[in-house]
Amino acid sequence: MERTLSIIKPDAVNRQITGKINAMIEDAGLKIVAQKLIRLTSAQAEEFYAEHKDKPFFSGLVEFMCSAPVVVQVLQGENAVARYHKIMGAINPDVAEEGTIRKTYALSINCNSVHGSDSVESAAKEINFFFSKLDICE
Ligand code: ADP
Ligand code: MG
Repeated sequence: MERTLSIIKPDAVNRQITGKINAMIEDAGLKIVAQKLIRLTSAQAEEFYAEHKDKPFFSGLVEFMCSAPVVVQVLQGENAVARYHKIMGAINPDVAEEGTIRKTYALSINCNSVHGSDSVESAAKEINFFFSKLDICE
C-alpha cells in the first residue's frame, strides 16, 4: 500500500469539477483517505513549490495556487504515486493521454487542474505538509 498527495487546483475548484475529478480518482481504484478544502497563503505555496523557486514560472505558479481554494487530499492504493501520475496525465493537456484528468479538464500547462507527488519520498513530505496522522482515515 502506498500513499500520494493530490491537489485539485484553483482552476478546477472554480469550475466546480472537484466531484468529477474525485470520480475519476475513485473509478481508477485509488481511495481518498483524507481530504480538505483550503486557501493557501503565498508563503505556504512558496514553501510547497520551493524546488521550483528559480524557474521562470514560479511567481505565476504561486499566484495561481493562491487565487482560489484548493482541495488537498491523500490517495491510497497499490503504487499510488505512479498510478496517480497516469490518471492525471502529462503536465501539458495538449499532449496528455485521452481519458486522463488533465486531457479532460486542464486548461493549460499552468492551469492544469491537479498536482500529484512525483515520488514516494516527496509524497511523505507533501502529506506531512498538509495533514497530521489523525486526519487520515483508512
Ligand atoms: P507536476 O505538476 O507534473 O509535478 P512540475 O513539478 O514540473 O510538474 O511543475 C509543478 C507545476 O508548475 C505544474 O503542475 C504547473 O502548474 C507549473 N509549471 C510547470 N512547468 C511550467 C511551465 N513551463 N509553465 C507554466 N507552469 C508550469
Ligand atoms: Mg512536481
